[in-house]
Amino acid sequence: MSKEKTLSIIKPNSTLDNNIGNIISVFEKNDLRIAAAKLTKLSKEKAEGFYIEHKERPFFGELVNFMTSGPVLIMVLEGDNAVVKNRDIMGATNPANAAEGTIRKLFAKSVGENSVHGSDSLAAADREIAYFFDKNEVLNRF
Ligand code: ADP
Ligand code: MG
Repeated sequence: MSKEKTLSIIKPNSTLDNNIGNIISVFEKNDLRIAAAKLTKLSKEKAEGFYIEHKERPFFGELVNFMTSGPVLIMVLEGDNAVVKNRDIMGATNPANAAEGTIRKLFAKSVGENSVHGSDSLAAADREIAYFFDKNEVLNRF
């Protein structure tokens, strides 16, 4: 198994619902560790840049509005196979389709307000981590 880093964001519905600790607890139970963390409120420009691949999708405006509507906790998570493991723990994009015990099944409100972001590949993880963190802000345990 390879040690990886991935980007996670706890989205505004879950910071506002006071579920930050509950969600981090799911990561920790699955042997993911926090290597960097930043609690912030995204600007429209920062959120648009982050989701640029979705620019042409009909929900883009709604997504940017939601992601700038409240605090977000942006984290680098690390562990064995962290990218795929985090996607598994998160559950399906639409909580109606998310498996029992996944973060989205437990805490998401809707397909838009779905509690967490997670990088979907190693290349995306590298790009997304660099989008939010300077190299010296990320711990290197491995
Ligand atoms: P994921 O976050 O599971 O990787 P996508 O990359 O497809 O999902 O979409 C990015 C985010 O856009 C989703 O997490 C969700 O917040 C939002 N989103 C996706 N599909 C829809 C939709 N049909 N309606 C509203 N928001 C959506
Ligand atoms: Mg995605």
